[in-house]
Amino acid sequence: AVLFFLLLMSCLAAYILHKYLNKNTLPEESLRRAIARNEIVPFYQPIVNGKAGTLRGVEVLARWKHPQAGYISPASFIPLAEKSGLIVPLTQSLMAQVAANMNLIASKLPEGFHVGINYSASHICTPTFVEECLKYKDSFTRHDLNLVIELTEREPLDINDHLVQTLNRLHENGFAIALDDFGTGYSGLSYLYDLHIDYIKIDQSFVGRVNAHEDSTRILDSVLDLARKLSISIVAEGVETQEQLDYLNRNDITFLQGYYFYKPVPFTELIKILLSKPNVRVRVE
Ligand code: C2E
Ligand code: MG
Ligand code: MG
Ligand code: MG
Repeated sequence: AVLFFLLLMSCLAAYILHKYLNKNTLPEESLRRAIARNEIVPFYQPIVNGKAGTLRGVEVLARWKHPQAGYISPASFIPLAEKSGLIVPLTQSLMAQVAANMNLIASKLPEGFHVGINYSASHICTPTFVEECLKYKDSFTRHDLNLVIELTEREPLDINDHLVQTLNRLHENGFAIALDDFGTGYSGLSYLYDLHIDYIKIDQSFVGRVNAHEDSTRILDSVLDLARKLSISIVAEGVETQEQLDYLNRNDITFLQGYYFYKPVPFTELIKILLSKPNVRVRVE
């Protein structure tokens, strides 16, 4: 009986230890493993040129292709990646896959096709960020693709000389900068003063309120006015309804992104979309 009791206790201890360890190491460790196994994959959401009816480009959106859980949304792992520093290897792995994907279809893409990548502030501020981007310069510029670095306004960004220099060097090398989630942060206006920004992406929370509240339409009106005065191009995100589209058309917003047009899709689906568009044809090299 004593032996049995000891055996039972040690089993219990092992079980508790197992639980404890899993609880404390699982999320970060499993994310680390997922990155190493290329389970963080790019989805692509087409961005439309509303006037020409053509595709302006795509935005790359991370998905965790989990062997059991299926596709997991970035909202549930990007914050952990940012907190743990894993965002750097995660985005590098994503970029390598995007570059490989784009190389496969580059000859079928219209010239100047935009490929937008979301970069976290903590990543952009690493000392070797420009060098990291330059690794991909050739595979993009060779095919006349434009790499657009999306910088979110959600997180506070320390505007210092290093950041200003980083963005300048990116520009010199043909990359463009988009200010993402515009209107949701506190510092958007000061970013526009201090940083060289090519595109403003109007957050979907503004687009979504078009016509629902007059005030939010007025706020949007003045944001669009401001962007125009600064000669910054606008991309509207989260376009879902005809009503929103009508407003954006009335206001001459050309670049549109949202479920009204396309949802984010895996690469195989993107190929189908590209082949169905009239402006996509095989270029003579
Ligand atoms: P974001 O960069 O502002 O991306 C746009 C988000 O809006 C995407 O969500 C997209 O799926 C969603 N969306 C697009 N059109 C519509 C629409 O018509 N209606 C609605 N309701 N939603 C729409 P997603 O893919 O879940 O990504 C969420 C956020 O996670 C992104 O917001 C971005 O901030 C972040 N994120 C995604 N991938 C990455 C990444 O590779 N690196 C980093 N640092 N952040 C990422
Ligand atoms: Mg974005
Ligand atoms: Mg956005
Ligand atoms: Mg957003």
